[in-house]
Parts: sequence; structure tokens; C-alpha cells
Amino acid sequence: MSNVSQPRLTDMGYLRDLLERHGFHFSKKLGQNFLVNPSVCPRMAEACGAAPDTGVLEIGPGVGVLTRELALRAGKVVSIELDDRLPPVLAETLAGQDNVTFIWGDCMKLDLPALLKEQFGDRPVAVCANLPYYITSPIIMMLLESRLPVENITVMVQKEAAQRLCATPGTREAGAVTLAVQYYAEAETLFSVSRGSFLPAPNVDSAVIRLTRRKTPPCDVKNEAVLFRLIRAGFNQRRKTLLNSLTGAGYTKERLTAAFGAAGMTPTARAEQLTLPDWAALANALCEE
Ligand code: SAM
Repeated sequence: MSNVSQPRLTDMGYLRDLLERHGFHFSKKLGQNFLVNPSVCPRMAEACGAAPDTGVLEIGPGVGVLTRELALRAGKVVSIELDDRLPPVLAETLAGQDNVTFIWGDCMKLDLPALLKEQFGDRPVAVCANLPYYITSPIIMMLLESRLPVENITVMVQKEAAQRLCATPGTREAGAVTLAVQYYAEAETLFSVSRGSFLPAPNVDSAVIRLTRRKTPPCDVKNEAVLFRLIRAGFNQRRKTLLNSLTGAGYTKERLTAAFGAAGMTPTARAEQLTLPDWAALANALCEE
């Protein structure tokens, strides 16, 4: 399973030659910025807890630079790639790495809970990926909402997305996605990665974040659909007072005023001022009426 004899995928000369031999050109549409900083992938692989008794799900292997580091540490790696020009490249770069399985397709369209069960059985699993930036939040939300039985999601995202995903609810940096992440996981920023660490270099810096899945939600919620509908409506019009923005979730002002009263909250607050327990109290009060 060792890849010591293979050239480093972060070696620019080798990488350019590899891509040229396969007639590969980067696709902006698919968010293709490949990692060429040799220190980043080993750190990501360690951070997700890859070990001989664990499995790792990767999304978007590219030429396999992170896949290799994961395969060196984990018992099994399953990697999903959408670009159908990459199979011959990965067959070359991951040759001999017999604990890696590639799934060709769109990660947003696959039945990931079924795939995980089939590929990993009862093994503890982590997600580790350098995510395509054009669908960072949808992928993270899909992974969280489908309640994938994963220990953690350790991913590279744009710095701004990292700030939002890992923000403290109740602060200006928070958005609807912050609250959703907080509900399912504990979020932390692990380290920053400069734009020069990628080929081609994007216009922004990045960061690696880790979302550690909670065993149970941090607050009692009677109806999760109501909670998330409120949060979305509140942040859709975040400058408005909640009494005005939350009518967007289908409630009358009278009903909202009663719910704010029951939850002991002020209706003139704005979405970004509420913590997750505040949102839960409001959603529960609306469910009780
Ligand atoms: N892991 C590689 C690295 O770090 O160098 C490549 C990361 S690159 C930022 C994102 C990768 O995700 C690309 O290989 C791209 O083709 C792939 N990708 C884009 N959209 C995808 C999707 N919907 N499903 C699966 N893979 C996708």
C-alpha cells in the first residue's frame, strides 16, 4: 500500500507533465483548483482521524493528491469524482493503492447513506475533501441533513465560507448556514491555506474546517422543519426586524407576537442577534399555539 516510489503530486514539474500527457485542462465550472502545497494534505488526513480501522469518504479527488495521503493512513478510502476525464489520470496516480475505490458521478445526486453502508459497513467514517467552491454550502448541508453516520467532516473551503460556517450564532458573521451547522455539529477552523497553495491559484485564500457531528442536537426542537423555515426567513431579510422578516415563513404578525411573548423574546430583534436556543424557543412556541 506504500506510495513512496511514486512521484509527489505536489511537484509542479511532474504535475504539469501528468496533466499535459492526459490532455487535461482545468475546469472552472467544476471548481478545479488542485493543491500543490505539500504540507496541506498530510495535515488534513491527520485532522480527520484517518487510521487503519477507519474509512474516509472524499469528494472530488482531482489528480489524487489528498486521496493518496488518506489511503496511506485509512483502512479504506471511497472517493467520488464528477469529471469523466479523470479516471485515466487517477488510474496512473493511484496505481497500486488497493484500498481506494472511485465512484464516478455527482456527489449531490448519489444516495450517500446507502453508499456509506455498502462501502464501509460498521467502520467509523470521516469525510475529508478539498471541496469544489461553487457548491461548498450545498454539499455541507446535504452531508449534515442526510444525517450521514460520519464522525467528522474535515474540508477545505474558501476563507469567507469558513468564517460563516464556523461563526458564533448571535454575531454579525453568522448566517442561516451557521445555525444549521451548529444544530448538527461542533465547528472549528483548523488552519488557513494561502491562494498560492493551489494550481491554478484562486482569487481568495482558503481554510480547513472540521465539523464534528453531535450525537444529539444541542437544544430540544419540536419540529425541525419549522425551526429551519424560521431561520431561513429571518436571514433572507436580515436587516428587517424579526416581526417583519418572519412573516416570510408564513406566519401572521399576531401569531408571531404571541410566540415572541411565550418565548420571552423581543420581536424587534434581528436574525443575526439570535442564538440557536433562541430560535428553538421561538419555533417551539409557534408549534404550541
Ligand atoms: N482533491 C483535489 C485537490 O485537492 O487537489 C481536487 C480538489 S478541486 C477543489 C474539486 C474537485 O471536485 C475537482 O476534482 C472536481 O472535478 C470535483 N467536483 C466538482 N463538482 C463535483 C461534484 N458535484 N461531485 C463530485 N466531484 C465534484
